[in-house]
Amino acid sequence: MIFDIITIFPELLASPLEEGILNRARRNGRISVNIVNLRDFAPDPHAMTDDRPFGGGEGMVMKPEPLTAAVEERQQCLPEKGRVILLSPQGRRFNQELARKLAGEKRLIMICGRYEGVDERFAMGWVDEEISIGDYILSGGELAAMVVIDSITRLLPGVLGCAGSAENDTFSRNLLKHPQYTRPRVFRGQEPPEELLSGNHDKIAEFRFLASVRRTLQRRPDLLRKERFSAGEVKLLERHGLYRQVKHLHDGGEDHGFAG
Ligand code: SAM
Repeated sequence: MIFDIITIFPELLASPLEEGILNRARRNGRISVNIVNLRDFAPDPHAMTDDRPFGGGEGMVMKPEPLTAAVEERQQCLPEKGRVILLSPQGRRFNQELARKLAGEKRLIMICGRYEGVDERFAMGWVDEEISIGDYILSGGELAAMVVIDSITRLLPGVLGCAGSAENDTFSRNLLKHPQYTRPRVFRGQEPPEELLSGNHDKIAEFRFLASVRRTLQRRPDLLRKERFSAGEVKLLERHGLYRQVKHLHDGGEDHGFAG
């Protein structure tokens, strides 16, 4: 998958791409990331990419000409034009479902806003989708773009070393992942739950599923409303006294459609 990131601060993006999974994905050719300096597309000799807002008011607004020129130049480089994403606090909220959808694209061109944001004419004419990473304001779209790229990259085939690990992540279902433990076996007097030390795979899977449901009930009950459980899982929930709580959240307490 190809990512083009259009920014006035290219250096800000370098180091996250040189570490860990993103670095490996780049080296293995699973992703290719082009960092594009917006200033190279500014028409005036001072490389101005922003100006004062019409109507007055605080801050500066990113000018439409450099943004448009940068997007058009990137689109001419390759056969796939690419979906143009503007990082914006006013956009559609980013989540795992949207990450999965975007992972199906061949190419994304990401625009990092700064100052008060971009000229609306650019947003209307050249942007396919605005994406927000949450209800808070960042100083610029660069970190937001990295968040989006990182989460999409994890979902691309062959990127994660351990094949199952994206499938079992939090949000792959509407459940938080179960708690995890590693060596030493005894840490400051505390041991991991005995089920995890049993070596019995069924017992471990059952323990993890129940821990995951309990944790979601406690921390994110809103997620459970959307989750569907198999008949076997429903039986397990019943056996452990969790069925009523989960059912109460699901469909406002109605029974139909609970087991999927
Ligand atoms: N004045 C704008 C407003 O009130 O909507 C906020 C501009 S913000 C300081 C500058 C840039 O940071 C935005 O254009 C956008 O690219 C990026 N940004 C800020 N918060 C973001 C968020 N939650 N998600 C994605 N991008 C964000």
